[in-house]
Amino acid sequence: MRYCSTRGEVQGWGFREVLFSGYAPDGGMFMPETLPTITPDTLRSWTSLSYPRLVQEVCALFIPDDLIPRHDLDAVLSGALSQFSVPGAVRLARLGGGLSVLELFHGETLAFKDLAMTCTTRLLDYFLQRESRRATVLVGTSGDTGGSAIRGARGLRGVDVVVVFPRGRITAVQEKHMTTSLEDNIHVFAADGSSDDIDVPLRCLFADRELVKEHGLMSLNSVNWCRILVQLAHFLYAYLQLSGLERTPGGALPRLEVVVPTGGAGNITAGCIMKEMGVPLRLVAMVNANDIVHRAVQSGDFSMATQVKQTLASAIDIQDPYNMERVFWLLSGRDGLQVKGLMEEFQRSHKITLPDALHRKVSSVMCAGSVTDEGIVGTMRRCWEENHYLLCPHTAVAVWHHYHTPLSPGENRCCIATASPAKFQDAVQKAGLTVDLPEEVRALEKLPTRFQNLEWGEDWERPLRERIVSITSVRQRGALFYSPV
Ligand SMILES: *Cc1c(COP(=O)(O)O)cnc(C)c1O
Repeated sequence: MRYCSTRGEVQGWGFREVLFSGYAPDGGMFMPETLPTITPDTLRSWTSLSYPRLVQEVCALFIPDDLIPRHDLDAVLSGALSQFSVPGAVRLARLGGGLSVLELFHGETLAFKDLAMTCTTRLLDYFLQRESRRATVLVGTSGDTGGSAIRGARGLRGVDVVVVFPRGRITAVQEKHMTTSLEDNIHVFAADGSSDDIDVPLRCLFADRELVKEHGLMSLNSVNWCRILVQLAHFLYAYLQLSGLERTPGGALPRLEVVVPTGGAGNITAGCIMKEMGVPLRLVAMVNANDIVHRAVQSGDFSMATQVKQTLASAIDIQDPYNMERVFWLLSGRDGLQVKGLMEEFQRSHKITLPDALHRKVSSVMCAGSVTDEGIVGTMRRCWEENHYLLCPHTAVAVWHHYHTPLSPGENRCCIATASPAKFQDAVQKAGLTVDLPEEVRALEKLPTRFQNLEWGEDWERPLRERIVSITSVRQRGALFYSPV
């Protein structure tokens, strides 16, 4: 299994190198050079597997046994997934009116990112321990990634985590998940602007090859292939639980529609890959008023609005759904040259029109929709009234689709629940509902916090760079094992 860049200039990388990278050196994103096929027989043989077992099976398809022996791989992944508050790490809620919600938020920070993040940080740690090396993880966040990365890497000896979050644009609970980690390998910064604004200086830091090499700088955003890889299991699990596969022994595989609240488009990318691998999915990418993905799917208009709109579903207040580059690559027939041209133009002008053939392909693989704040609170209310079941505002973006689009006959549907409503109390309040806060959330209130402010305007790329350099020198003085990956 080898990996290449979506921009065509990098080939033949191994899983370990890809795990320890961010963007590919040509500015693209890593993808497997070829995709294995999951045959109908294999699918049928997996129907009774738990979510953690499916993560193992999926990861084993992409991580060679001579790099991580299967026994080690299974142990690392099952260790990571044993930290969740429900058995099997995820839960399926079957509600009224054919609505099924796959709850992926039972990790420590109550968002789906905990699943792929804990697996990814444990795999990092596996290599770092084995090689006596260390790495510095640089993370920008729209709210949930930062907390997941911090919790995943807390106390790991070989990893420093540097997180930058958008001040005032995340919820109190999200902020606490980041600022209450006082371990000395965790470094948290608040900056002005949207999460897209923050991504710009971070991308510059990643583009500095010297800095990356010297300090073992890497990404844990869904730029990182390993996050996408683990997320393949969400779609596989949804399919095996909900498609009705067991009722069609030997016949044609039934189809399942999976509805995904979409921001950076990592999750929907995993869905596209799973579909390419032979799992019959119909994908629905649902967004809020930041609707670039919706417009791209509908009319090929992949252009950023002038500003990020702040909505009740703040974790998907994103204008640059950077993982769509992976989707474009996959669906263009792996045409690195075309993708390079398109994405470089997009980075320059923030606006491209998808070529006809590519647009047709994209819209045949997924459909999309956009939901207003009104639609979000309306959906939260309706779901509460009908089921006494509380949705987070992102999950409501997906469930809105369920309430507005009838299912095709013979098809089933799964809505992905990306976060717990306890994390988004303002939205719950705006819907006129109340949320029972779990004890862990109430406890956050009383914990001491630590973070630093980065002042906008003074170009904080430089102070952040200085922090990264100083972390490394502290590690060297402390005579901790140090050799950047
Ligand atoms: C990150 C996030 C999303 C978006 O996921 P992508 O894979 O980036 O599209 C949706 N909902 C919540 C709650 C999130 O934290």
